[in-house]
Amino acid sequence: MKDDGKNNYNVFKPNPDGGGIERLTLENSIRKALQLGEFELHYQPQVDVLTGEVIGTEALVRWNHPTLGLLPPAKFIPIAEETGLIVSLGEWVLRTACLQHQVWREKGFAPMRVSVNLSSRQFSKHDLIERIEEILRETRIDPRYLELEITESMTMNVDGAIEVLGKLKELGMQLCIDDFGTGYSNLYYLKLFSIDRLKIDRSFVRDIMTDTTDADIVATIIAMAHKLGIGVIAEGVEDRDQLDFLHSHSCHEVQGFYYHRPLPAAQFERLLRKRGAM
Ligand code: C2E
Ligand code: CA
Ligand code: CA
Ligand code: CA
Repeated sequence: MKDDGKNNYNVFKPNPDGGGIERLTLENSIRKALQLGEFELHYQPQVDVLTGEVIGTEALVRWNHPTLGLLPPAKFIPIAEETGLIVSLGEWVLRTACLQHQVWREKGFAPMRVSVNLSSRQFSKHDLIERIEEILRETRIDPRYLELEITESMTMNVDGAIEVLGKLKELGMQLCIDDFGTGYSNLYYLKLFSIDRLKIDRSFVRDIMTDTTDADIVATIIAMAHKLGIGVIAEGVEDRDQLDFLHSHSCHEVQGFYYHRPLPAAQFERLLRKRGAM
């Protein structure tokens, strides 16, 4: 697939994921949806297994489409990536997540980490740092509570990645390597980049009980994180057995349907209230 930011693909080619929507149409509707405010964030709780407390949340974007209903990222993120619209969308996500964090603080909830996914397109923009600084200023979020999720490939493919990551750390944010283990890992980078957390990808967690290789990989990632003094969180935890496995290997932060699905902001807030996180 072309990834040069131009619209030089065949507009008549049906989009394999988009249920027959033509690419150009989809691109235009994403642009319009941004203007009309049709995107929304859902928040998936991250839980400390030891205390059962919600210790953080990952912001995940959805498109509240006027006719198609609530669309998951798989339906529009790939096109947004291809067309470069992901940069504007990603900024909207970051700003919205920071504002939401501040709203929750003002309502008296204990402040918690909010994690935002960064796309490689955003990461390679020369003005990334300035844009983030602006959002921090504008929303006045304490950057210690903001975590950016980046992928291994981003650190490998972007010129000056070390410098960018250094600057992000200087701004006081936390960095998490998302989908850890699925890309080309350069372990040397972990220390160099002062990475705060590794997120074990759902594809490993899924088969933890049936595939001994996956189980070994997960156990090894956890042990390595502990050894390096880096945090570790497992995503995609769906059942008790997976949870017990992770717990027994001392991975205490988890995110997954076993606890909670991603929730609209109002529902997330209700959950916090119910748990007395005031
Ligand atoms: P991801 O960053 O790996 O996010 C985790 C995905 O796993 C989410 O899917 C979440 O709903 C799903 N998930 C969490 N726990 C479970 C579980 O126990 N079982 C199952 N089956 N799934 C679980 P979602 O929200 O559909 O997002 C898919 C991907 O879209 C994300 O994967 C991320 O790569 C991308 N994405 C989502 N929001 C954003 C965004 O704001 N910006 C960027 N650049 N990408 C985003
Ligand atoms: Ca993520
Ligand atoms: Ca991701
Ligand atoms: Ca993942």
